[in-house]
This record gives sequence, C-alpha cells and structure tokens, in this order.
Amino acid sequence: MTSIYHITYYTYDNSIYIFFQGCNFQCKGCILKQLIWDCHLNNENQHALQAVKDLRKLSLSEFKDIIKGFDVKKAILGGGEPTIDKELPDIINVLNALGVKTRLLTNGYLINEDFIKKLEEAGLSSICISIKAYDDDIHQFYTGKSNKPVLNNFKILDKSQIELMAESVLIPELIEYNEIKRIAKFIAGIRSSIPYRIDAFIPINDASWRAPSLEEVIKASKIAKRYLKKVHYIYNKTKIKGEVINIYPKIKAR
Ligand code: SF4
Repeated sequence: MTSIYHITYYTYDNSIYIFFQGCNFQCKGCILKQLIWDCHLNNENQHALQAVKDLRKLSLSEFKDIIKGFDVKKAILGGGEPTIDKELPDIINVLNALGVKTRLLTNGYLINEDFIKKLEEAGLSSICISIKAYDDDIHQFYTGKSNKPVLNNFKILDKSQIELMAESVLIPELIEYNEIKRIAKFIAGIRSSIPYRIDAFIPINDASWRAPSLEEVIKASKIAKRYLKKVHYIYNKTKIKGEVINIYPKIKAR
C-alpha cells in the first residue's frame, strides 16, 4: 500500500499533484496541520473533501488505474513527505513507464546516495529540495531535525542525473533575509545555475508568524539573485491558470 491519499489534476499543463501522507519533520508552520487537501480546489470541492472521514490510501495498481484515465504529462509528488513511502521508486517507475515527467518535492532528509540511485533507476526527472533554514539551530527549532543531512544530500544530488532545484519559505522574524542570503550562498557554492524559488509563508491558525508582503518576497528574491542565476518566487496570491480537478478521493462535487 502506498501513502497516497489525494490526487488533483491541473488542466492548464495536464499535470497531477500527488499528496503523500505523513512526514519525518514536524514543521511548526506546516500548512497540512490546517488543510490536508489541495488548496487550489474550489470551495465546493473543499467542502465535500472536508466531509471525508476515512483517508483511504491507494495501492500501486489502484494508483496506476486512476492515472491511466487521464492525459497526464507531468506529476508533482509532494504532500506530506513522499520519501517516507517505501513504494516511492515503484510509483515513479509506473509514471515513467506511462511517459509522465516526475518532480519530487522533499525536505531532502532521507535522500542519501542509495536513495538517489533508486530514484535514478526509477526514472525521476527532477527534484526540488526544500531548504528550511541554513542555521541549524533555526532548522531544529522549526522542523525538529538537524539540517546537516539535508545540506549534505543536496551536494550529492548535484552529481546525479536528476535535475536539481531548491526552494525556501520566507517567514518574517524566523527565516528572514539573512537566512535566504546564507541559503543562496550555500547553493551558489555548489552551482550558481541551480534554480531557487522563494515561497511566501502562509500562516496557519496557531502559527506565531505572519505572511510576508509581496515587497518582502521580492526583496528576498533580489538578495538571492546576487548569488544565483535563476531565482523566482511564489506569492500567496499568485493565480492558477485553468481548472483544478479533484481526482482522488472520489467526491460528489466537481
Ligand atoms: S517538511 Fe513539509 S510536509 Fe513535512 S512537516 Fe515540514 S512543511 Fe510539513
């Protein structure tokens, strides 16, 4: 049985977003504490999904059957933390055999050399490592884990066949400009052409931090651009093109 509990389909680029349940980090501001469903779904779908009481995870063959019913060109594997799912290489293998490009979003903690080999063999196209903080004290405070394996795995990944990128969340008064600068310098020390994305923090109910303004996100991007060639950002209000369709679990609303 996989850890996949939710899948959505984006019409503008024929992509799917696959949600894996569970994580080996305990980030204080994790959005999943508040919302486990795709936040880009419309209100009607959100409402119907919130009534789902029993999260039923998919078997590999059920997953394959669902995917075959859609014209999928690209799959984003996120969640949650996909790397704690033992079936992750098989899932990527299934997608690869169907000609689907795959991107893994991960905190990077478990992506060691053996794991990278398995992902390469399965045909993973690209990987985005979320670097939560460069300062290990901040990292441990925010996630409950040291960032040492993450930073080390990131270096190893750049030697692999898998396309590598990184992202960080800008959190005012926690992960601020100085942290973004240190992360950007760290990435540039490996290769300055590695793409880097800055996401605006989305506050959850009991979080102690506010959302950054658009101006703050742009300023953080400019700081990162001093060191890196490809920097972009996602701000909360960035619009999604086309329609977002819920394809698993089955609900009445569309
Ligand atoms: S790594 Fe991601 S999924 Fe895991 S706790 Fe942190 S924000 Fe949530």
